Amino acid sequence: MKLGTQYYRPPFPEKKYWEEDFAHIKDSGLNTVQLWVLWAWVESKPGEFVFEDYDRLIEIADQKGLGVILSTIAEIQPYWISRVVPDSELIDHLGRKVISTNRDECNFGLTPGGCTDHPGVWDRMKSFLTEVVTRYRSVPNLRGWDAWNELRWNVQADGLVCFCPHTLAAFRNWLDRKYGGLEGLNEAWKRRYGCWEDVMPGKLPGRTYTEMMAFQHFLTWRANQHGKTRYDLMKSLDPDSPITVHACFPSPQAEGDSYDHAVNRGNDWFFADNLDGIGCSSFPKWWGQDDTSFSIRVDSVKSAAGDKLLWLSEVQGGRSNIGFDMSKPVDALSQQRWLWNGIACGADAVLFWCWRDEVFGKESSGFGITGNDGFALERLVAMKMTGRLIEEYSELISNYRPEKPEVGVMFSPQSYYLYWAQEGNARRPAQALEGYTRSLARKSIPYLIVEEEHLNVLSELKILFLPRTIVTDITTEKALEIFVKEGGTLVCESECGAFGPQGFYRYPEERFISRLSGIREIGRRSLTKDYFWTKIDGKKFNLGATQWLTPYWKDKGQVLANAKEGPLMVEIPVGKGKLTLCGAYLGDAYLHNWTADFENFVETMIRRAGWQPEIQLISPRLTKDSYVYIKSGQSGEKRVVFIFFPPDHDKAHLRFKANFFSGMHAMDIISGKEIDFLESKSGQECTLSAPKWRFSVLVGD
Ligand SMILES: [Zn+2]
Repeated sequence: MKLGTQYYRPPFPEKKYWEEDFAHIKDSGLNTVQLWVLWAWVESKPGEFVFEDYDRLIEIADQKGLGVILSTIAEIQPYWISRVVPDSELIDHLGRKVISTNRDECNFGLTPGGCTDHPGVWDRMKSFLTEVVTRYRSVPNLRGWDAWNELRWNVQADGLVCFCPHTLAAFRNWLDRKYGGLEGLNEAWKRRYGCWEDVMPGKLPGRTYTEMMAFQHFLTWRANQHGKTRYDLMKSLDPDSPITVHACFPSPQAEGDSYDHAVNRGNDWFFADNLDGIGCSSFPKWWGQDDTSFSIRVDSVKSAAGDKLLWLSEVQGGRSNIGFDMSKPVDALSQQRWLWNGIACGADAVLFWCWRDEVFGKESSGFGITGNDGFALERLVAMKMTGRLIEEYSELISNYRPEKPEVGVMFSPQSYYLYWAQEGNARRPAQALEGYTRSLARKSIPYLIVEEEHLNVLSELKILFLPRTIVTDITTEKALEIFVKEGGTLVCESECGAFGPQGFYRYPEERFISRLSGIREIGRRSLTKDYFWTKIDGKKFNLGATQWLTPYWKDKGQVLANAKEGPLMVEIPVGKGKLTLCGAYLGDAYLHNWTADFENFVETMIRRAGWQPEIQLISPRLTKDSYVYIKSGQSGEKRVVFIFFPPDHDKAHLRFKANFFSGMHAMDIISGKEIDFLESKSGQECTLSAPKWRFSVLVGD
């Protein structure tokens, strides 16, 4: 387990601090430092590489017993790039050359720099990466590489990119491969292009979907490809060290905006396919995120990472000060909750951002673990204790695997592309997905986010929710059909599969759910009130709805809810499984307006699909602002259970399934307390008291 901190973003912190800081870092229980190896800084003159500062930093780290993770920041490019590689600038959607400048968060170097589709830019980038890896691959304290920071490639482009000739050629090649030539494209797109040069990306949202969706899909692929290219090069030079990349946010949250197409920094699932693992940044106090939002982020990246490495590559160290705006300080216990929540989700590395407060630009005075937000001392005391625990239980933690989820929530990038193509962001599907995952996190039900092109995991699931999955292709539909016919439960929202991957609308009777279920939607109807009632197994649920309703034409199967013009929720057996069709959007409605009913509805659907909890919370009851969060897994033969208490409850009554702890006994490694369980008719029970840190990590046989 790497527990560390980001330290160096050249030229800060200055040299005079290094020795003392590294001694302090080691003394605080951390075992790793992360250093930004910045292309612009290292090769400030073409072909001349200066590594003095890194040599020294790595040497000091080694002397103090610290490992190093090197972040190769090839995306902050040298100032000479467009001089040495002419015409390599990105071109925006208005045909303007993108003028690169210093990044708002980096003192030296150009962003976005030259386009990596230009072979001259990649040649130069490649030689920088080669120099760095060759120089440091054999240092004894190297712990790994973070090959791409937050997957940035277009920040500060100040327009939609890239329309340069190299990227356009790459786009057309990608289409050519996908459709097997221009004729294939014309057939799929229903067009009559005469030559490839006429095929252009979409320019702005709100116009035809086809070429805009295609361009976004290409941009996702392109980012994945760039990550793989960096990885392949670095791995060929250093086969032994782990190499990951990390995003600013998990790809299901990449909803895009006026400068960003949806999912344009690549797709976590494909990074995980190609690399040793993936990571993610998280700044909960800065972004106003609660425990649930944090765990959703980590669970999302874990869903993509599978058995590969999961790095929490940037976790907030101290208060964020952005410009003259001050956010909440970072108290020690919040920080420890993030850290241990990360471990509970299966993280292999937790790296804080950063050690000292920043000293330049808008981040000045913020972010340091040792920073001046008034909580540095308590953070360091707590970190030291965690450092000790991580050392003491290193084997337990490194062998720990979270419980395998049997519940899935679909992430459909193609649906995101369509929403972005229409609305300029994919907020609706992103929020719909977040609504479902939020309800599951609050109920402590283990779940997997299922990416539409990685459906082999379906065989492990009992139920799959499809929030706002309005685009489906034949491959996805086939996999979903098999899933249902073999016993799975599919819960679809309004207009599921209403569009094909080229963005053409399908009439209700042409959609795969219609073929499977034998019933179809009657069309969009106005939402006259923003809720409806459903009755399942004798229990009534009041469910919020947004946007519109799409009731069903035929009354078939078991009707669970009605609208004025027909059934609104219907359950239909298909093969060994069943389809639950809901002609409304529930996930984003719940996200905007919390109800216990939605959470209970989701749990009821899951239990009806055959899932049984291993651990149940008997009390306290979950409320809007308070819930006990439980996460569990195994480490070898040992059970490991993480229990996070809310601020307003000091006790939690839990019931574990029979024989959960064969010894009827566990130890809380955080407080050191021994816990005994009582055998009851329905399992093993205990009432836990919140320790000082307000979470427990129970370990038992
Ligand atoms: Zn380009």
